[in-house]
Amino acid sequence: MTVLRDDVIAWIQAFAAFIAENKDYLTQLDSDIGDGDHGTNMDRGFQAVCAKIPQLADKDIGSILKAVGMTLVSTVGGASGPLYGTFFLQAGSAASGKLELSLGDWVAALQAGVDGVIMRGKANPGDKTMVDALGPALQALKDSAARGSGFADSLRESADACERGMTATIPLVARKGRASYLGERSAGHQDPGATSSHLLLRAAAETWARQEN
Ligand code: ADP
Ligand code: MG
Repeated sequence: MTVLRDDVIAWIQAFAAFIAENKDYLTQLDSDIGDGDHGTNMDRGFQAVCAKIPQLADKDIGSILKAVGMTLVSTVGGASGPLYGTFFLQAGSAASGKLELSLGDWVAALQAGVDGVIMRGKANPGDKTMVDALGPALQALKDSAARGSGFADSLRESADACERGMTATIPLVARKGRASYLGERSAGHQDPGATSSHLLLRAAAETWARQEN
């Protein structure tokens, strides 16, 4: 299977729908260890992204992803706007000019997006951030591709690893972002950004892996 422009747009729309459905949940998670705005931040950003989609249908995949990133940077405040914005801008640069993505292209785009988040936010693994979900998702995707698995299976393995990474943030003590202000009291709560990151990779798996390899 390959991922076409329409598939990329369908992924963005599926993620926007997941965010809308989970807005209150994400906000609740952020109330526990932050300032209670992660759901509303992400929902505001992705509603703005969805409003731009009609202008994007004839663009290449890199341009579509970059437009998503720029919209997020300009509409979402807080930490998650610049971080998700950078993710999409960097993934878009890696997919510049492409009209379709192979598994190898998706590995490169996800790698660039995750590298961008790490460069921007300077989080290390174990700091209890979205990096703890995105990092394992990228590693699982690479491992699966290296084993010769198909695109659909690799996407599912990536989303499953992302989910395990998300859950593994629960016992961690936050060392980056607002949750770090709580110190030891941040332990015992799931990180909101890791939770939205899992929705991002789950949306890709569910949207793209419908076609069998
Ligand atoms: P804010 O913290 O500014 O209110 P949000 O609530 O929208 O922004 O997003 C919080 C999420 O952002 C956290 O759960 C965490 O996953 C992520 N985050 C915060 N700081 C960093 C960072 N430096 N690197 C990576 N992710 C971060
Ligand atoms: Mg917040």
